[in-house]
Amino acid sequence: MDLVLLGAPGAGKGTQGALLATRLGVPKIATGDMLRDAVRQGTELGLKAKAVMDAGQLVSDDIVLGLVRERLDSDAAAGAIFDGYPRNVAQARSLEGLLAEVGRRIDAVVYIDVNDDDIVRRMSGRRTDPETGVVYHQEHNPPPAEIAPRCIQRPDDVEETVRHRLEVYRENTAPLVDHYRQAGVPVHTVDGGGAIDAVQSEILGLLGR
Ligand code: AMP
Repeated sequence: MDLVLLGAPGAGKGTQGALLATRLGVPKIATGDMLRDAVRQGTELGLKAKAVMDAGQLVSDDIVLGLVRERLDSDAAAGAIFDGYPRNVAQARSLEGLLAEVGRRIDAVVYIDVNDDDIVRRMSGRRTDPETGVVYHQEHNPPPAEIAPRCIQRPDDVEETVRHRLEVYRENTAPLVDHYRQAGVPVHTVDGGGAIDAVQSEILGLLGR
């Protein structure tokens, strides 16, 4: 199965995507995670992407396309949950092209809807364990005491940058909901404001799982 998760930054795509990946037995392709890995490892690509990411802008379509292509040729050869990709209509078309080359297409889109104020609250409380990549929230899901001191805030999770990312999302990514509807791909909307388990159950129900 090839499934695209849409929703603003902080809507819960990463959390829901990880649960879905386990449940459906396909890997999650999260271009943001792949880019952050490249930044951590100090690769040429990571050096190029870092300033763009820290400012809450989108990195170039070519860079992310290369990352996704590698995955489709390896662990995601039989399906994937796409999280944070595609981010604009051009990327959606590229993905359609890549999948068509291997006889696949997007089976469904899940759009996770959360209002902006909740997004800002969620993201400014978000903390990541740099060693495992696991994401916590200071209030709702605090990191265990022994790892709390090493947990960090993503540079692009500070409030001003979050607001900018929401604008970038509205301008570039939100139109994908209509793009997929017009292409005849089933688009399922879920209210992402609820508890993690409740949102996951709703998604699985909509997907008939
Ligand atoms: P995310 O973890 O999905 O919120 O992504 C974090 C940052 O990585 C974004 O703000 C962008 O700078 C960059 N990024 C992630 N995915 C993409 C993408 N598909 N296209 C362009 N930039 C991306």
